[in-house]
Amino acid sequence: MTHLHIETPLFVSRPLTLRSGKEIWLKFESMQPTGSFKLRGIGQVCQSAVRQGAQRIISSSGGNAGIAAAYAGRVLSVPVVVVVPKTTTQRAKRLIQNEGAEVIVHGTSWQEANTLALSMLTETDCFIHPFDDPLLWQGHATMIDEIAVAGIKPEAIVLSVGGGGLLCGVIEGLQRNNWADMPIIAVETEGAASYAASVREGHLVELAAINSIATSLGARQVCRQAYRWSQTYPIKSVVVSDTTAVAACEQFIEDHQVLVEPACGAALATVYDRVPELSSYSSVLIIVCGGATSTLAQLQQWSQDLAK
Ligand SMILES: *Cc1c(COP(=O)(O)O)cnc(C)c1O
Repeated sequence: MTHLHIETPLFVSRPLTLRSGKEIWLKFESMQPTGSFKLRGIGQVCQSAVRQGAQRIISSSGGNAGIAAAYAGRVLSVPVVVVVPKTTTQRAKRLIQNEGAEVIVHGTSWQEANTLALSMLTETDCFIHPFDDPLLWQGHATMIDEIAVAGIKPEAIVLSVGGGGLLCGVIEGLQRNNWADMPIIAVETEGAASYAASVREGHLVELAAINSIATSLGARQVCRQAYRWSQTYPIKSVVVSDTTAVAACEQFIEDHQVLVEPACGAALATVYDRVPELSSYSSVLIIVCGGATSTLAQLQQWSQDLAK
């Protein structure tokens, strides 16, 4: 087996193109077997670790990274332990368990779960970092290889930023395909905008707390490499509201019959909400990063609550 992820669909969205007056390409990472792009990088990290003799995979993500780690372990026939905090939803725990992984619930925050996960590590374990790992970025970069092979060259790329792993992976992909001049629009939600805060302050900023429903964007600090890129690569930082992100998820179901998390709705919202940062481009590609942890009922509930 060469890799664990699949090649995802890539096409021009007619509804988004009509709405924006620009050519809008979509790269459907939501179609990965685990529902998000995370499988690209995490698949690569796990595969390489198992090749080098790792006998167990350990993760502390109750989100899409944990699901991808669990999937990778099942396919590679290696046991997986995912330590998650009490706040992790039943749905996320079930998705991880459905892959045959063991879920341990510990602590009230990710920090506590992560501390326990790290304390369990032995020499034959592979620890999965959800966003800060150069090998992970190489795996994420394969989505750009697929776009280049398809012969499609948009004027700009829109993506969401949590800890910045997707951002680093996409830039790596652009560089290795000699597209290192293609601008990136990096989108976060208010309350999870750790990248925007670092760019604004001129140094790596750690947010005191996360206050957004887009939990997959909820890294209090982006990785150092993401911040470094902000100083050398053409990246425009955009922050949208939770309300806008959820509305984009709902409209995307109407337009493409695909349900994504608000973390992904944030990127889609740049088109639905016509943010000025896109105004100078006539052709844009959005990474539909996906996300498996939201349900339709949950989206509708958020939409109601945010309208209050
Ligand atoms: C992980 C994730 C993100 C953010 O990716 P980072 O690499 O942490 O920046 C965005 N959307 C979804 C659905 C995710 O799973």
